[in-house]
Amino acid sequence: MKQPDFLSKPIAEMTAEEWESLCDGCGLCCQIRVEDEDTGEVALSNVACRFLCLSNNRCSDYDNRKVNVPDCVKVTPENIMSLDWLPHTCGYRLAAFGMDLPSWHHLVCGKPGKVHTHGPSMLGSLISEDEADWE
Ligand code: SF4
Ligand code: SF4
Repeated sequence: MKQPDFLSKPIAEMTAEEWESLCDGCGLCCQIRVEDEDTGEVALSNVACRFLCLSNNRCSDYDNRKVNVPDCVKVTPENIMSLDWLPHTCGYRLAAFGMDLPSWHHLVCGKPGKVHTHGPSMLGSLISEDEADWE
């Protein structure tokens, strides 16, 4: 599969635009993780941050996300290696580890929506944390 040319560069040498384009829009990083009290196992829930738009899995207020959700993490070339909770499919993570992007990634297939139909996205299966009943 043809990969974007800039993927051959070290991530520290990518432009901001190239780096940002690696996000596949899956929205998995905006879903709330829950920990089993007994086993300590962490699992991804179907509950999303209240700022995730559930019709496209994009942040509804991206520019102000750190104001809206102070512990929302901006993924950068500097911190990517420490963010071990990101899904293994995350485009930033794949680039950081020198791996190819998958066939459904928009930079490979040219179709931004394919992450929702052929990738890991849970679009259509999520509820907002405002609607969640944690009981
Ligand atoms: S998990 Fe990675 S690729 Fe998916 S939305 Fe979050 S930052 Fe983007
Ligand atoms: S503020 Fe936006 S980017 Fe941050 S977790 Fe919530 S939806 Fe995701």
